[in-house]
Amino acid sequence: MTAETFEFQVEARQLLQMMVHSIYSNKDVFLRELVSNASDALDKLRIEALRDDALDVDVSDLHIEIEPDKDARTLTIRDNGIGMSRDEVVGLIGTIAKSGTAEFLRKLKEVQKTDNPDRAAAAEGLIGQFGVGFYSAFMVADEVTLLTRRAGEDAGTRWTSTGEGTYTVETVADAPQGTSVTLRLKPVDNDDRLFDYTSPWKIKEIVKRYSDFITWPIRLVTAAGEGSAEEGSEDGEDGGKPEPETINSRQALWARPRNEVSDEEYHELYKHISHDWADPLETVRIHAEGTFEYQALLFLPARPPRDLFTQGGSRGLQLYVKRVLIMEDCEELVPPYLRFVKGVVDAQDLSLNISREILQQDRHIQMMRRRLAKKVLSTLKEMRAKRPEKYAEFWREFGPVVKEGLLNDFENRDAILAACSFATTHDPEKTATLQEYVERMKEGQEHIYYLTGPSRAAVENSPHMEGYRDKGLEVLVLTDPVDELWVDAVPDFQGKRLRSIAKGEAELGTEEEKEQAKAEREQQRQEYGDLLEWLGGRLGDEVKEVRLSSRLTTSPACVVSDTDDVTPGLRNMLRAMGQ
Ligand code: ADP
Ligand code: MG
Repeated sequence: MTAETFEFQVEARQLLQMMVHSIYSNKDVFLRELVSNASDALDKLRIEALRDDALDVDVSDLHIEIEPDKDARTLTIRDNGIGMSRDEVVGLIGTIAKSGTAEFLRKLKEVQKTDNPDRAAAAEGLIGQFGVGFYSAFMVADEVTLLTRRAGEDAGTRWTSTGEGTYTVETVADAPQGTSVTLRLKPVDNDDRLFDYTSPWKIKEIVKRYSDFITWPIRLVTAAGEGSAEEGSEDGEDGGKPEPETINSRQALWARPRNEVSDEEYHELYKHISHDWADPLETVRIHAEGTFEYQALLFLPARPPRDLFTQGGSRGLQLYVKRVLIMEDCEELVPPYLRFVKGVVDAQDLSLNISREILQQDRHIQMMRRRLAKKVLSTLKEMRAKRPEKYAEFWREFGPVVKEGLLNDFENRDAILAACSFATTHDPEKTATLQEYVERMKEGQEHIYYLTGPSRAAVENSPHMEGYRDKGLEVLVLTDPVDELWVDAVPDFQGKRLRSIAKGEAELGTEEEKEQAKAEREQQRQEYGDLLEWLGGRLGDEVKEVRLSSRLTTSPACVVSDTDDVTPGLRNMLRAMGQ
């Protein structure tokens, strides 16, 4: 069959351009990405073989091979994993399905246009957040050939591209099952072997650094003699291929003692499972002993994934049973409001064949889910106390998601509230926890006051604020859409009710002051009776009632709702949801 030529999708082409002209300074990561893909492919094959008895494949020696060829200046990364069908090759490699690609590229272009001396660093930061996976091969190669055959299919597919706008695809009769990616390496501009990716020494260094924990064997296949890097004897007297050398230690990080694992190693594991290029913000370790033993390594990302608020984004943790990965995105292990948490759970005593349906009811899964949620929440609380900047960074990005938990996780409500913080009129620079608010409450203050609105400025300039500001009463400034909902779902905090200052009668001051205000108001009501009646008549059906208020100090009038009315913000949100 003849080769067919295709054009890359526009976004893919733009992204490739950047890889070809290599704006990323740390090119070594291309190998991490290709090994990571190979490892994913092996995971997928084993899981599929576990589920599907009819799949006739040999899974007894799943592995990754790295084969450099110094003379041809090529590097091949090979796996005997799941492979790809022809359609998958075109769909997965020719296009970028990631949401937000267009926006990412726009931002990247903007950064590159500026005169900022930190331009390169800013561009790397953006790429780090986005990740480019397979395409990173074009940082070091001027031609990439991928040969693949999907497990269970007869024909294979060869894909070739120089990364310049088009690629060719052809069907191949005799491809081995799995995938091999061959890079024709760009010329090295100096003969420093540090940058020669055919050097066994260099390959080992990169694998050790980024992929050591990969549980599949990563074998270095070299011409005889070349494997022993330090001596580098080129002659290889006995000819033929020596036994390939396994160059990763394959130890599961979560099973190793804490003090023997470096932060960098944890971060590399995070990057592998999340496909993020940036370091995580926080690593959480759990070592549960007793009747049901398991270990977990959880990560809080530094940036939200692009699919955080869309349906069907990748969710959940990797579930292992005794070091064997049995499920990739096990959603049942984390509640929806912690869906940004990435990581690994390794249980001693679960069935390897556990299905998604059974998972939901499994007592052990539920137990782990509960414990993991509590641990993440307590970590957040601790972060706020001990690493406030880190917490603030986290909260800015993920606060709105965590607060969703207040709507449905009743069991953990207190723990969620303890992890939450809110903007407040007390100090515009700092957020406050409800605990801190309560400790600052004024003598005689019964409620926790808040005001919701579309932005901080809108809330702070609201006429409702005036009386509270004058009396020095602290008001929480709530500006996330979810705030409209949880304030109604949480009845109180330590016996103090949450109260919107935009609803019902304002109740400022001590009992005495209130009594006095009431008397005054009574007098005023008589004084202004005619005016109120006239206003009420003019506004007609627009309002329920016109009344005098003590909540204003400089504005002449404001609109309030009844205590149990929906707020304007919530009304807008419900309208947007089609209700
Ligand atoms: P990501 O790994 O983040 O999905 P990549 O660009 O690294 O993005 O890879 C794109 C897709 O191509 C993968 O999701 C996978 O479906 C497919 N793929 C890449 N390499 C392999 C491989 N060695 N075997 C099977 N599929 C692969
Ligand atoms: Mg990848």
